[in-house]
Amino acid sequence: MGTLICQTCDTTIEHFEVNKVTTLYANCPECKRKRKNLKK
Ligand SMILES: [Zn+2]
Repeated sequence: MGTLICQTCDTTIEHFEVNKVTTLYANCPECKRKRKNLKK
């Protein structure tokens, strides 16, 4: 099983089906929005 984790707040965004244990990092919608707001 694969897990998609937010690299900013460590929240599990989603699980997905894969043959081996995999962890991917991304940003959850909440953090994406915050990062966008921080950008000037
Ligand atoms: Zn997040």
